[in-house]
Amino acid sequence: MITDNTFLRGTTILSLLVRRGVRVAAITAKDKLRRILAHEIDGSICFSAEKAGDATLKDNGIDDVESWIGRLAPPQYSGELSLYVLDSGVKLLEQNRADFFYLTLSDFIQHKHAPGSKEANSFMSDLDRRIGQLVDLGAVVAVTGDHGMSDKADGDGHPNVIFLEDQISSRWGKNAVKVICPISDPFVRHHGALGSFVRVYVTSSELLKPILDFCKSISGVEEALSGHDAAQRYEQPLDREGDIVVVSKKNFVIGSRKEDHDLSQLEGHRLRSHGGLSEQDIPLLLSQHLASSRPMKKNWRNYDIFDLALNIDWRVVHRLEVLPGIMVYRPNFKLLIRQKVIVPKRESV
Ligand SMILES: [Zn+2]
Repeated sequence: MITDNTFLRGTTILSLLVRRGVRVAAITAKDKLRRILAHEIDGSICFSAEKAGDATLKDNGIDDVESWIGRLAPPQYSGELSLYVLDSGVKLLEQNRADFFYLTLSDFIQHKHAPGSKEANSFMSDLDRRIGQLVDLGAVVAVTGDHGMSDKADGDGHPNVIFLEDQISSRWGKNAVKVICPISDPFVRHHGALGSFVRVYVTSSELLKPILDFCKSISGVEEALSGHDAAQRYEQPLDREGDIVVVSKKNFVIGSRKEDHDLSQLEGHRLRSHGGLSEQDIPLLLSQHLASSRPMKKNWRNYDIFDLALNIDWRVVHRLEVLPGIMVYRPNFKLLIRQKVIVPKRESV
């Protein structure tokens, strides 16, 4: 599990911006992500809503956040955590304390409440209002997500779980494999540490082929690949890949052993989670039209948002363009922010 910058192999776009003299502010919902994003941006404003009360000038580039925003740091499991991030961004922008803002939210509400529910609608309109404030303050705003979210329960509301390590153990014995669920973390409450992607480590190489074949045969599994094939297909580093990668279908999740997952934590909610191919499609939203002279890519990825937000030639505003996979901002939605202009040199950021 990654909870800080220990495993980074390169540096970050934020750090490259800081090196070029851009004033960066990075605000996260949870503190574990703050510890990664703080990598090589010393002196910049970088804090989490979760630990807003502990921010110091020396470590976070800002202190007294709670009195500055006017309310205490929200609980880690709340929609309020995300709103606190956006309110902090709005205030920093009002006070002109950064040129580039990276504001990241949590998916707590999306895990708990389906689109269209009262709670989801109210959260979205809270986000929308704040994003509108950022635009009104003159920022170029770009919004994206790191994944979608699907319902993972059956008609009766029970989660559709494949307990993969249990299933493999019942055929090949208790110590044949270790199944790792990357969605697990010590802080999990709302999704029972269940997502649609797992890595399987086999204890003996002869088991690889038969266990891979078995994984492919399980109903509810969309795809099972060797680690080698998965690393190639999904552009992952091979040395950090499992022996086998298993991805479930849209309405299923994959767990390890039944005893490792506390489903009582769902508290009567239908399980909603992510990690599969079914959650790959996400929006990229921009508050500005793209200049039509810009060469168009076909397969946009969420990380292209940096390029789009930073390198838009927004002196040239043409007719409204809707690109494949991109929605151009009408008055309502977004997230990564550039304040008027700002990359001193344009190449390769
Ligand atoms: Zn999540």
